[in-house]
Amino acid sequence: MSIEHNNQFLHQVKPNQCPSCGAKTIADYVYGLADDQKTQKAHQEGRIVLGGCDMGHICAGEPYRAWRCMGCGGDFYSHVLMNWL
Ligand SMILES: [Zn+2]
Repeated sequence: MSIEHNNQFLHQVKPNQCPSCGAKTIADYVYGLADDQKTQKAHQEGRIVLGGCDMGHICAGEPYRAWRCMGCGGDFYSHVLMNWL
């Protein structure tokens, strides 16, 4: 289920498959400081994408990047889920 916002599809849940390229490797965006080994390892293995510490747009309730296709690098936006460190 998704709705369109500013030409971006907002996803309610993590997509199983990239609608653009069909890849099934979708990484989670993680926001905050990624200074622990578990997070670093997940990043190196391509299971997560580090979104940095800029959460102003998230706090404002605007759509944010929640997942990334590791096949084509396309971002998926959401405004309902949050990965906090
Ligand atoms: Zn893709």
